[in-house]
Amino acid sequence: MTAQRIDGNAISQELRGQVAQRALALKSKGVTPGLAVVLVGENAASHVYVRNKVKACQDSGFFSLLEKHPDTLSQDALLLRIEALNNDPQIHGILVQLPLPAHIDAQKVIEAIDPAKDVDGFHIASAGALMTGMPGFWPCTPYGCMKMLESIAYDLRGKHAVVIGRSNIVGKPMALMLLQKNATVTICHSATADLKALTLQADVIVAAVGKPNVLTADMVKPGASVIDVGMNRNAQGKLCGDVDFAGVEQVASFITPVPGGVGPMTITMLLVNTLEAAQRCLA
Ligand code: NAP
Repeated sequence: MTAQRIDGNAISQELRGQVAQRALALKSKGVTPGLAVVLVGENAASHVYVRNKVKACQDSGFFSLLEKHPDTLSQDALLLRIEALNNDPQIHGILVQLPLPAHIDAQKVIEAIDPAKDVDGFHIASAGALMTGMPGFWPCTPYGCMKMLESIAYDLRGKHAVVIGRSNIVGKPMALMLLQKNATVTICHSATADLKALTLQADVIVAAVGKPNVLTADMVKPGASVIDVGMNRNAQGKLCGDVDFAGVEQVASFITPVPGGVGPMTITMLLVNTLEAAQRCLA
């Protein structure tokens, strides 16, 4: 068996087309979706990420504001900026690019964002909303994974989903989203005693670890679906995921590639959340 690839670029393109149309409709009602991206410091990767996010906003007809601050910015000054953005009617979503410099408490900054503008879904109120099934913003990466499963009309009810990784931004929210769709969910982490024994039982595996080849073909039940969130560099410096793609592709029924899988979905879901935040202003 060779697995069918779930193409993150194609799904993204389709979703972004819908987002741009909905943004146009909102504009005709006098609301232009607006995203503020706040960057502190000189982290090279962060600069690339924020550039991509701002460009995606522009391509979708959103208003975007990119605030770049030196890494000498104090925590208090950053909190004041967040407060100003919370009160800015042009801004519907606020994203603070992580990581922040060591002298700034990232959690404190995230908690300062108005939950109604928390389009990254990292605020404790957003996490609580996800946990209790209330309306709120879902973190973009696991939300994108759910959209990928939706794209193949995957019915999660009664399926066993194994999530490898338990971070607050990927693993834990991913598990809650799968649970909400009636999967039976197992969460694995670095202290899991026998990862292979668990993944072999899985109908769906989501790998969100940050280590190449965490999931190999011998760990996958034939016909399972595999979502690879990992973004790593292999020994040759090439971008790769957590999954041994060549091997697992021969066993799974569906698989997401890296690159071209979950990566493009993350920014797309940021656009979806920002649009949703703007839409709620009309309600
Ligand atoms: P993280 O905060 O470092 O969490 C990694 C998780 O993996 C932790 O829960 C850790 O367990 C677990 N883990 C580590 N080694 C393990 C092992 N051998 N077996 C099982 N579990 C193990 O990372 P993250 O932020 O969730 O990101 C995970 C990966 O996704 C990274 O490669 C990141 O670059 C990528 N990512 C991609 C996107 C995208 O847009 N495509 C977005 C976000 C993240 P403990 O909790 O026990 O330490």
